[in-house]
Amino acid sequence: MSFCPVCNGFSSVEVKCPKCQTMMTDSGKLSDYFGDYSPYREIEHLNMTNGIVDVAEHQCTHIAYCSNCGYDQMVSINELNNP
Ligand SMILES: [Zn+2]
Ligand SMILES: [Zn+2]
Repeated sequence: MSFCPVCNGFSSVEVKCPKCQTMMTDSGKLSDYFGDYSPYREIEHLNMTNGIVDVAEHQCTHIAYCSNCGYDQMVSINELNNP
């Protein structure tokens, strides 16, 4: 079993905003972010267009949000393996 350290509160999304270099904050999992109005098929498409590997590769995709300028982007978190 693998788990996402961000979802489980062990770590946070540590990326800087490409626009203003502010540390971005985790805005939740991609699937939570898009909620009910976006079918999974669209999320897969988004992943592909951004070159982000999907969940099958043991990564959890989060949305990082910049509170300074409002920019957000997807961030792939590498899942950790349970011992
Ligand atoms: Zn996660
Ligand atoms: Zn920013």
